[in-house]
Amino acid sequence: MSFRVDLSKVYNNLHPVQECPFCQISAHQDKAVVVFEDSNYLAFMDKRPINTGHTLVIPRKHYVNVMEMPREEVGQTFSLAAVISRAVVQATNADGINLGQNNGSAASQEVPHLHVHIIPRFIKEVKEGFWPRRKVTSLSELQNVGERIRSELSKILLTRNSHSEKIIH
Ligand SMILES: [Zn+2]
Repeated sequence: MSFRVDLSKVYNNLHPVQECPFCQISAHQDKAVVVFEDSNYLAFMDKRPINTGHTLVIPRKHYVNVMEMPREEVGQTFSLAAVISRAVVQATNADGINLGQNNGSAASQEVPHLHVHIIPRFIKEVKEGFWPRRKVTSLSELQNVGERIRSELSKILLTRNSHSEKIIH
């Protein structure tokens, strides 16, 4: 299946890797509240969360968008996002989760390094009938919820490891 995409529009906002904020987080050159990392992937708290617990999953390798990523890595990224989603639900008591992945500025991609948003959602918001706006939050709040997510994730990974599973299949 092929995409009909004008790549010149997608790449308009491409930054050199050394200027990419997510590559800098991956290289520990910029601070972030990290909830998961291994040699290929990283998950950390969005600094401007739509809801408390809003987490981003990225590959360490700099892909701008999903169309330039090898298919198996697309699968691994979403597989990891699904596992971390369980921890986010446990940590925030969310009623639902949105997984979001934006490609190109026309699609609201703000950082040109592929990322998956894990956004906790609550029944109350649905009743009020609006999509919540991004919030200003404090570092301590991000650290608090990040700690809860890390704690829940470690329980999930412990259970999975006891079944001789790796986190990503
Ligand atoms: Zn990058």
